[in-house]
Amino acid sequence: MATATKDTQQTKALPAPNSDFYQLAETLNAEELALVKKVRAFMEAKVAPIITKYWADDAFPFELIPAFRELNIGGLGLQGYGCKGGSQKLFGFVMMELARIDPSFSTFFGVHDGLAMGSIYLDGSEEQKQKWLPQMARLEKIGCFGLTEPLVGSGAAGGLMTTAKREGDTWILNGEKRWIGNAPWCDLSIIWARDLADNQVKGFIVENKTTPGFSVEKIEHKIALKVVQNGHITLKDCRVPEANRLQGGNSFRDTARVLRMTRFMVGWMATGCQMGAYENAVVYAQQRQQFGKPIGSFQLIQDLLAKMLGNITASQCMLLRLADLDDAGKLTDQHAALSKGFTTARTRETVAWARELFGGNGIVADYNVARFFADSEALYSYEGTFQMQNLIVGKAVTGFSAFV
Ligand SMILES: Cc1cc2nc3c(=O)[nH]c(=O)nc-3n(C[C@H](O)[C@H](O)[C@H](O)COP(=O)(O)OP(=O)(O)OC[C@H]3O[C@@H](n4cnc5c(N)ncnc54)[C@H](O)[C@@H]3O)c2cc1C
Repeated sequence: MATATKDTQQTKALPAPNSDFYQLAETLNAEELALVKKVRAFMEAKVAPIITKYWADDAFPFELIPAFRELNIGGLGLQGYGCKGGSQKLFGFVMMELARIDPSFSTFFGVHDGLAMGSIYLDGSEEQKQKWLPQMARLEKIGCFGLTEPLVGSGAAGGLMTTAKREGDTWILNGEKRWIGNAPWCDLSIIWARDLADNQVKGFIVENKTTPGFSVEKIEHKIALKVVQNGHITLKDCRVPEANRLQGGNSFRDTARVLRMTRFMVGWMATGCQMGAYENAVVYAQQRQQFGKPIGSFQLIQDLLAKMLGNITASQCMLLRLADLDDAGKLTDQHAALSKGFTTARTRETVAWARELFGGNGIVADYNVARFFADSEALYSYEGTFQMQNLIVGKAVTGFSAFV
C-alpha cells in the first residue's frame, strides 16, 4: 500500500507553472488575447533562448528587431498616426509578457513606445505627430527620452541644468543627460531642457545621428538591465529647429503627463519580472532533489512560492483596476505612483525569494533567475525611485509636499 502511494506520486504529472493564478487574461477580449499570445510565443521562441548570453555580454540583440517588427505592436496604447492603438490594459499585458521573459527587452520597447512616442503623442503638434509617429510605429526610427542628468535625478522637477536658448527659428541646447535608454544606438532623442528665457522645461526632438554637437557614450559595467544600452549624452551648442520643439510641452507639467503613463507601465513590467522569476522557480522546485525528494515537496519552499504568487497576484489585480481607470481617463499621478512603488517593491521581494529557492545556482545567470533578480533593482529605481513615488502619494493623501 505504501509502495503504491509512492509510485502514484512519482508518475503523477506535475502542474505547469502558472503565474496568472486568478485568470486575469480572461478579462481580455479574443483579439487582445490573440495578440498577447503572439507576443508570448515570440518571446519564448526567439528571445528566451539567446537573451542570457546578451545580458552577460552587456549587448543588445539587434538580430531580433526584424522579427519583433513583424509583431506589429509599435504605437501600442496610442491611437491614430499609424500606431497599433488598443487599450491601456492591452498595452499593460503586452509589457508584462515582454518582461516575463526579459525586463531589458520590455524596457527597450517601453522607452521607445511609452517615453519617446508618448512624448510626441501627448506634447507634439498635429504636424509633429504626423511626421514622426508613423515611422516610429513601424520601428523604422527608434527613440529615447532624455530627462535625467548627471547632477539632477529625482529633483528633475526642481530644475534641469540642460539649457535651451532660442535664436530666431533655432534653439541651442547645452548640457548633459545620463542614463538614457537606447541612446547609444537609436535615431531620435526627446531632450528636456530649461528655456533660459522663461525658466520653463521644454521638450525637443533631436536627431541623434545627424545633429552636430550631439554625442553619446554607452554607460559600462551595469549590473541590471544589462541588455539595454544606456547612454551619457553631451549636448554642446546643439542646434535644433523650432519645428522640432514639442509644441505642446511648455512646462514640467507636460513632461509629467508622459511619466504618469509610463510609470504605470513600469508596474506591468515589474509584474512580468516577478512572473518570469516565479515560473522558473516552480520548475526548479519540482526538479531539484535534496534529501531524496524534490525541494518543492518541502513546506518552507512551498511557503516561498505561495508568497511569490501572492505578490504577483496582488500586483496584477492592482494594475488591472488601474488600467480600467486609465482607459476611462481617470488615471492620476498619485494612482500611477502608488502602483509603480508598490509593484516594484513587491518585485524585489519576489525575485529575492526566487533566487533563494535556487540556492547557489541562483547566482549563476544560466539558471534564469539571477537576471530577474538583478534587473528588479533598476525597475525599482528608474522612472522615479520608490521614495519619489511615495512622496507623490504622500502629498496627495495629506495635502503636504515633503519633497524638500
Ligand atoms: C537602468 C536605468 C535606466 C534609466 N533610463 C532612463 C531614461 O531612459 N531616461 C531618463 O531620463 N532617465 C533614465 N534613468 C534615470 C532614472 O530615472 C534615475 O536614476 C532616477 O530618477 C533616480 O535618479 P538618480 O539616479 O539621480 O538618484 P538620486 O535622485 O540621486 O537619488 C538617490 C537616492 O536619494 C533618494 N532621494 C532623492 N531625493 C529625495 C527626497 N526628497 N526625499 C527622500 N529621498 C530622496 C532617492 O529615492 C534615492 O534613493 C534610468 C536609470 C536607470 C538605472
